[in-house]
Amino acid sequence: MPESSNEKLSVVVVGAGFAGLYLLYRLRKMGLSARAFEAGDDVGGTWYWNRYPGARCDIESIDYSYSFDTELEQDWEWTEKYATQPEILRYAQHVAEKHDLKRDITFNTRVMKAVWNEETSLWTVTTENGEVTTCQYFIMATGCLSQPKNIDIEGADHFGGEIYKTHSWPHDGVDFSGKRVGIIGTGSSGIQSIPLIAEQAAHTTVFQRTANYSIPAGNGPISKEKLAIKQRYQDYREEARWTPVGVPGKETVDFTFMVSDEDREKRYEALWNTGAIPHIGSEFADILSNKEANDTLAEFARKKIRSVIDDPEVAEILSPTSFPICTKRACLDSGYFETFNKPNVSLVDIRKNPITEITETGIATADQNFEFDAIVFATGFDAMTGALLAVDIQGRNGQTLKEKWADGPVNYLGLTVSGFPNFFMITGPGSPSVLSNMIVSIEQHVDWITDCISYMQKENLAVIDATLTAESGWVKYSTDFSDLTLFPMANSWYMGANVPGKPRVCLPFVGGVGAYRRACNDVAAQDYLGFKFD
Ligand code: FAD
Repeated sequence: MPESSNEKLSVVVVGAGFAGLYLLYRLRKMGLSARAFEAGDDVGGTWYWNRYPGARCDIESIDYSYSFDTELEQDWEWTEKYATQPEILRYAQHVAEKHDLKRDITFNTRVMKAVWNEETSLWTVTTENGEVTTCQYFIMATGCLSQPKNIDIEGADHFGGEIYKTHSWPHDGVDFSGKRVGIIGTGSSGIQSIPLIAEQAAHTTVFQRTANYSIPAGNGPISKEKLAIKQRYQDYREEARWTPVGVPGKETVDFTFMVSDEDREKRYEALWNTGAIPHIGSEFADILSNKEANDTLAEFARKKIRSVIDDPEVAEILSPTSFPICTKRACLDSGYFETFNKPNVSLVDIRKNPITEITETGIATADQNFEFDAIVFATGFDAMTGALLAVDIQGRNGQTLKEKWADGPVNYLGLTVSGFPNFFMITGPGSPSVLSNMIVSIEQHVDWITDCISYMQKENLAVIDATLTAESGWVKYSTDFSDLTLFPMANSWYMGANVPGKPRVCLPFVGGVGAYRRACNDVAAQDYLGFKFD
């Protein structure tokens, strides 16, 4: 429960995932009064909600962890190369306890509205329970993949069996033993959960609209070499901060067709065997900008898929061809493709045989009726803007964020929006965000925002707002960058294409973590160039 209604604070934070936790930590260190509101009943965000079987990180544990607490990074011991959801959740809970953060978090409370008051220069924030809080700074740490996409299939309420959604999985797990299970969706959550569900269920039917590229995780204990990084962890973290994706690795200057076919094949093979998701798109410098170059890697991936699937027709359906590799989130899997060799697993290509409705007993497609005991929806998120627009945010002159973003999420540095003073977003659209190791990006955003607030305190400034000129400059820069790449060729959630009616723009900044950090640092070093202060 909140300490009081009509509480007045320096900062309101929305969300208590990795972003909200670190932000609270920093704000408290600055001596500011801050409170986070969290819809769930515990910390962890993504790792609190997504408890489906097989949920795990596809960035190595050594990389996907906070760098701000040097004691924590030495003390915490990850058990696997790629950590599972329960382990990451335990880590988030440990951080919250270690730094006593929960006392500033109001759980089970969704923020519904935030209104800027020009007279008082304060935000008024209202929760679903009607509590009202005023604050100088309003910060959305609501996550890029936290607002599930609506299930837009006719009859979804009519099904008489069990319904599960990967993004809000029951906390005590699900036993599929002896059940006929239908799974809709083959994005990352589907690819991670299908092998484990199929191990239990009597029969599993997978409904696929778009085949996805996926690399075998090759999970296991953390190698000695990786563990040795702990001896120079802070240097390694600093290196990560200036890389394209927030994970140190080889940065190539080779172009795809500079090397022989044989050498290229060898390099792809080595890449494949390391399960190195962050680096898959950067083996050659032109993979993400030259379609023919991209095709060489895509064809290599398709060959790998064909090589593990017994039935050539099934292999064909599972082989992605409709978008360049890496322009949709590539997945990391443990036995995903091999699962389709099992006699009790079937695949339905819903591009050819579309789902017409969910019935009381199962799923009807154009040419077949399937009966199920349980249906699993792994249908993804209204990514990057969904959680931001789910809150009624009103800036200057009563303009809502929804109105401002009607044609796409314009922003300055992916951190702020002109006309919405003292409002910040963590890993918002216009920042590298989902194209990076997100803990690196979260820490960078939190540090930048808290440094900015410190600057304002020092200079006795009460209000910051991005200028329209700076905002349109950043939008043009980001759009020009993405237009140089193959990203716009994919109907991906990066492009907003998975949500009907969503403006089609490249949501993340594709220029890389290091270049982005440089741009943010430059703005700060020039007394926050592009911002107006009052
Ligand atoms: P979140 O963890 O999403 O937390 C946001 C919190 O805000 C949530 O708890 C939510 O309940 C709360 N919230 C939202 N709106 C409101 C509201 N209006 N009122 C109150 N509370 C609200 N990233 C990687 O870098 N590597 C990976 O391998 C990786 N794997 C992922 C796998 C899955 C299945 C998903 C969904 C995401 C994955 N991500 C991965 C991205 C992941 O979201 C980030 O790494 C990170 O956890 C984001 O932290 P966050 O605090 O920004 O947001």
